[in-house]
Amino acid sequence: VNTTGKADIVREKSAELYEKAKTYFPGGVNSPVRAFKSVYGTPLFIEKGDGSYLWDADGNQFIDYCCSWGPLILGHNNAKIREKVIDVLQHGMSFGAPTALENELAELILKNNKYIQKIRFVSSGTEAVMSAIRLARGFTKRDKILKFEGCYHGHSDSLLVKAGSGLVTFGETSSAGIPKAFAEQTIVVSLNDREALKEAFAEFKDQIAAVIIEPVPANNGLLLQEKEYLQFLREICTESGTLLIFDEVISGFRLGFEGAAGYYQIKPDILTYGKIIGGGLPVGAYGASAEIMDHVSPVGTVYQAGTLSGNPVAMAAGIAQVTELLRMGFYRDLNNKTEEFAESIQRFATARNYKFKVFYIGSIFWFAFTGQAAIRRAEDIDPASMEKFKKMHRELLNRGIYLGPSGYEVGFISSAHTKTDLERTKRAIFDSLDIVFK
Ligand code: PLP
Repeated sequence: VNTTGKADIVREKSAELYEKAKTYFPGGVNSPVRAFKSVYGTPLFIEKGDGSYLWDADGNQFIDYCCSWGPLILGHNNAKIREKVIDVLQHGMSFGAPTALENELAELILKNNKYIQKIRFVSSGTEAVMSAIRLARGFTKRDKILKFEGCYHGHSDSLLVKAGSGLVTFGETSSAGIPKAFAEQTIVVSLNDREALKEAFAEFKDQIAAVIIEPVPANNGLLLQEKEYLQFLREICTESGTLLIFDEVISGFRLGFEGAAGYYQIKPDILTYGKIIGGGLPVGAYGASAEIMDHVSPVGTVYQAGTLSGNPVAMAAGIAQVTELLRMGFYRDLNNKTEEFAESIQRFATARNYKFKVFYIGSIFWFAFTGQAAIRRAEDIDPASMEKFKKMHRELLNRGIYLGPSGYEVGFISSAHTKTDLERTKRAIFDSLDIVFK
């Protein structure tokens, strides 16, 4: 491990693989952020992961805080997940027919989460959210949805929409290839802006099928919302016959077993979950009351299906992971560890008068180059601050610390991160901050 930070890490093999990948995939990757466009150097090609560690193709070793973008709450290559997966694999990989494993994972989830009565497994967060939106539209018989600037809900058409100018806007598409007519069904407002929401409801009250929010917005920095604001959303939806969807693809099973709904004690109408319940394999899910869920086919009229939904290998990984999450004290220990880590970095930065904040909740953290005490809206992030993140990212890689390759991405701590890992990381962060603020 290079802990000196003196030279950029060797990336010869990664660079070679990247050149080849560019001839196969657009931009050399199968998901855009992996291309390292917002940070220095070519993307690192990962060879293996174990516990809190990652190794790239050049043999560089890192303590990983990306954790596959969240799902690896037990760290890499967890023995219990691996063994369960291998065990199930011996009997076949896919049947396209029900298995007892689906019941087992559903039971673990539903018995310990009072916010949903029935669940449907899918294969990604995007699919979960897309299906939840269709369910809300089918249930309410309304077409419009309302989302918030700065919340990401996967890449389905109605949701790749960003705010235009003005208080309440019909979204502008944030990707080519989305018909204007689709984007017109999506209303976009700023987070933490009650007036904008009231205005939207005053104008479109009987047309809004659902309000969808990441209750802990974690895809555009960590834009922590106040509980009162989330309660306000709950109330305005109830008054208007609109369903409230909490997209908990990041926060679900992360803040606690009951996610953000449990943390804030607010009951949304539909919940979406993602990768974390697959323990690193492709799983997503949406859930709600039995009344709402029974609108889904084959009992209801809202169609949704998937050849690989409830895949036995993915269910096996999910069962092993969720079982660990249910252990007494799991979240307490993880969240305490994160708090200690975040607070001690904050103390260092504050003592040095650096304009730097560590925002955190549960085991999610975000480094923000700002003097503001809180950032609740996407518009309040200074894009220029990303240059500082870019430098920090390089310094940290050179010291064996791996963060997601964008300043808008959050970091995750897993149960595999040891005290020693965190201490080493803190020292690397202190050194890096001193360089960035020099
Ligand atoms: N919703 C949220 C809140 C997410 O963070 C993500 C992905 O990170 C998604 C939806 C989409 O999930 P996936 O990438 O599995 O399709």
